[in-house]
Amino acid sequence: MEAEIKKSYGEKDQEHLWHALKPYQAQAAPLIAESGEGSWFTDTEGNRYFDGVSGLWCLNLGHGQTEIIEAATEQMKALAYFPLSFGHKPAIDLAEKLNELLGGGYRSFFANGGSDANETAFKIARQHHKQSGNPEKTKIISRYRAYHGNSLGALAATAQANRKMKYEVNVPGFIHIPPPYAYRSAFGSYDDDDLRAAEYLEQTILWEGPESVAAFIMEPVISGGGVIHPQSDLYYKKVRDICNRYNVLLILDEVVSGFGRTGKMFGYMHGESLYPDIITFAKGLTAGYLPLGATCVKESIYQSFKDTGTTNHFRHVSTYGGHPASCAVALKTIELIERHDIVKQVATLEADVLSQLRQLTSHALVGEVRGVGFLYGIELVSDKASKKPLEDEQIKTIVAACQKKGLIIGKNGDTVPSGGNVLIIAPPLTSTREDLTFLVETIQEVFAEIE
Ligand code: PMP
Repeated sequence: MEAEIKKSYGEKDQEHLWHALKPYQAQAAPLIAESGEGSWFTDTEGNRYFDGVSGLWCLNLGHGQTEIIEAATEQMKALAYFPLSFGHKPAIDLAEKLNELLGGGYRSFFANGGSDANETAFKIARQHHKQSGNPEKTKIISRYRAYHGNSLGALAATAQANRKMKYEVNVPGFIHIPPPYAYRSAFGSYDDDDLRAAEYLEQTILWEGPESVAAFIMEPVISGGGVIHPQSDLYYKKVRDICNRYNVLLILDEVVSGFGRTGKMFGYMHGESLYPDIITFAKGLTAGYLPLGATCVKESIYQSFKDTGTTNHFRHVSTYGGHPASCAVALKTIELIERHDIVKQVATLEADVLSQLRQLTSHALVGEVRGVGFLYGIELVSDKASKKPLEDEQIKTIVAACQKKGLIIGKNGDTVPSGGNVLIIAPPLTSTREDLTFLVETIQEVFAEIE
């Protein structure tokens, strides 16, 4: 009898698995993870890596959080599943906790993840206006470079052309404006970029007709689009004022920035007077241990859904949104963040890491290093004067060189027109000083080698 030849995971991977995002040929030597410990993981070949992007910016507390694992197990033992057309204890407890963290006055609808949470937000925004005497308020404004999800509505809000052009026709009713991005100011003005970007929002609302605009969605810090944030609080203040002035709901996508990633519990806390009408969470909400999304809405918006015995309620459901185990995991995640003062820890270590990474700007290929909390972007250019984005092949070489040294970092999606030329670094929030030293020194080494 012929001996059965056992295939390696590499071979089976190539035969069966369809990888996200990667071009086909990039799957030739896939990295196949097997186990994890803290901020590190080991692949099937026994190689150890530091996860400098927390998976997809979600594994915020690293691997091996036994309390989270136990919370999921205990919840599954008690109640494996229940839909949220009724209620269950972990969803109620989580909604209460989120309301507390948001300072009160918010109600939560649970979803599966970030895309789903944003879709939910758009539907709530439109239905709210319809039921509040403004039926024509339907348009949603979002910002170029932002990513808001993969489903067709969330993708329509996503303003990264390369991610969308193969799926046209895109869902209508979404309008894009430039974000504040001083390094490549759409307004040709580094110093006034925040102000001009905010004024452009107002112009757009006026040009479109305020009676037709339902909502403006933004990440407090654009993450996947290349770690882009305003220079000061001015932008946030203006945006809030403008949304108030025209009855445009401000949806904050905190799928990445929520739960400590930016050195504050939520990204909007970087703006003194900034607050969301609707805020969406996923990723860090469960530290990546189970899928969950949340759409938290101001009570005043919820009021317009109060059923009057007619049809005002929200005709929206998600089988797994708010799964009991996911909610139990989220509650434990938040408890751990609070108990271990994780947000403060991030804020304390941030300046050190950022200042070390900023030293890279002396390198010919580094145009700008920016970021906040544990979310950093290194924008690569082939020429500092013209800011011409570095060729994709060269960027991939840098990412691969880091991987060879045991460090996983990311890069932004293929954003037009500046290319996917920003290296993205977002280590687990529980990373130790030694972990962060490894992260910074490895990147420095790679840049020294290409000098
Ligand atoms: N919003 C932002 C800002 C994101 O980064 C992502 C995912 N990268 C999403 C929404 C979509 O989340 P999900 O992949 O969980 O659907």
